[in-house]
Amino acid sequence: VARNPGQKLFRQAVHEVLESLAPVVAQHPEYVEGGILKRIVEPERVVSFRVPWVDDSGVIQVQRGFRVQFSSDLGPYKGGLRFHRSVDEDTLKFLGFEQVFKNALTGLGLGGGKGGSDFDPHGRTDGEVMRFCQSFMAELAHHIGADLDVPAGDIGVGGREIGYLYGQYRKITGRNEAGVITGKGIGYGGSWARTEATGYGLVYYVREMLRETDFSLDGSRVVVSGSGNVALYAARKATQLGATVVACSDSSGYVVDERGLDLDLLADVKDVRRERLSVYAEERGDCEFVEGRSVWEVKCDIALPCATQNELDGDAARTLAGNGCRLVAEGANMPCTEEAVEVIREKGILFGPAKAANAGGVATSGLEMRQNAGRLQWDFERVDSELDRIMTNIYATTAATAEEYGMPGDLAAGANIAGFRRVADAMLAQGVI
Ligand code: NDP
Repeated sequence: VARNPGQKLFRQAVHEVLESLAPVVAQHPEYVEGGILKRIVEPERVVSFRVPWVDDSGVIQVQRGFRVQFSSDLGPYKGGLRFHRSVDEDTLKFLGFEQVFKNALTGLGLGGGKGGSDFDPHGRTDGEVMRFCQSFMAELAHHIGADLDVPAGDIGVGGREIGYLYGQYRKITGRNEAGVITGKGIGYGGSWARTEATGYGLVYYVREMLRETDFSLDGSRVVVSGSGNVALYAARKATQLGATVVACSDSSGYVVDERGLDLDLLADVKDVRRERLSVYAEERGDCEFVEGRSVWEVKCDIALPCATQNELDGDAARTLAGNGCRLVAEGANMPCTEEAVEVIREKGILFGPAKAANAGGVATSGLEMRQNAGRLQWDFERVDSELDRIMTNIYATTAATAEEYGMPGDLAAGANIAGFRRVADAMLAQGVI
């Protein structure tokens, strides 16, 4: 607390992990003797910089940019860039910390990092977004590289932004170093299935969670929050596997569509036209847009929070439980508050933690890096089946680790412990650095 004053999100994320490590530390005193717990909560480096740019009316704007290089014990720093008005050092330290354990779970040799800016792309023209991205990369380029630190997208950073960022990186460095950033377009070094990967991977993880239960995605009623990259593709894969996705949200409210969301229209409204969700309701007809309220009041069997941190609190969890919800899996990072997770456990609802359940995006970024290194491109089916295999493995690892440490079914503890052990063992082997 004294070291990180005011960093509530970071402290929440650290608390959640350290709490679940008690049984590991009891069995492995070498982690304490090697200073692992003290070292693992301190980022290797935090870079903070000024991002000046000129808006369409000629006014100079100044944003803050950051890159948190949290841990490189397993490989190059890897983690997305977030552009959202709420971004600050606290947000990015929490996300970078989570990323370290998530990346360890993928087994792909990736360290952890995160970056971004308090730039808000809402309502900005393509030209403004491009100029901002160019200014942001003018500084970031000094700190990244295919073997050093490999950013990707996150909230507010999709294909358009990645294109502008990568173009500017090439311009500044004069190098065609495709592996420096992931989430690129298919025509210039991107990987098939990277766009779909986090959402698809989340649903593969849910499928594994349900394998030994008496229900499945087929025939179930699903609610997702958000309507961005993760939400859209989670909804698509859940629909392909027989679920009806009846509701989604954005920062203005939520829409309920009892026939099941029209995902092509939703993608067009949110991803292409960048409109509010109310436009979906108007154009679709015969469905309801509810302004300013929580999507968790909609009855469902499966809830997939895919928007942002702390979006599902204790009250929302109680409402979900009261409505008969049987599974919550986190597509976003830390979307459930600590109280929500407690309620979910008490009520016997299955819980898929973000570090495991949303690792499909970074895993596929890892596959994009491999393809770039080999100067080749696998087809969609190959990447998708690798993603499925990785998510199935992550489920098996998290479930087996929870069992091994006497907490069967506690996938959150399983994910924290399995991720921690991989990083901690690498840290011990490499000495005090
Ligand atoms: P997008 O920007 O594509 O979509 C975010 C969605 O969440 C939008 O619908 C947005 O609403 C909504 N949202 C964002 N912030 C808020 C807020 N404060 N209150 C209410 N709604 C909000 O982001 P992604 O889909 O990429 O990311 C979503 C989550 O998934 C994040 O937690 C991210 O860290 C996590 N994640 C993403 C990965 C990826 O590969 N993209 C990988 C792993 C995790 P609006 O449209 O109104 O802005």
